[in-house]
Amino acid sequence: MASGVGRGPRAAAATWQPACFPTAVKKPTAKPVPAPAPLPTSRSEFYDEQKWCEHCQTYVRFLMSVNHSYCVHCGGRVRLFNHQDATRFQDHVQRHKWQAS
Ligand SMILES: [Zn+2]
Repeated sequence: MASGVGRGPRAAAATWQPACFPTAVKKPTAKPVPAPAPLPTSRSEFYDEQKWCEHCQTYVRFLMSVNHSYCVHCGGRVRLFNHQDATRFQDHVQRHKWQAS
């Protein structure tokens, strides 16, 4: 006369607990640190961009201001290129402008 326990499978499902809680999972803490990429020695200190100084007649390091950049040696205003390079650059841009469109 086993009556009242007609819902056997359902009762088992209700008491079943999911075992997906990751309590026993350890985090891999001993991860091998990748070696830093070897920097080129010429650029290891800082960004060594240079601009043309009309006064020093060479490409120099410069100080950035809002509108202009200034030579670190003479304090004069520097430009991105000297005249020769500027014209070459302009020419280069002009030649490639109509190619792109
Ligand atoms: Zn200068």
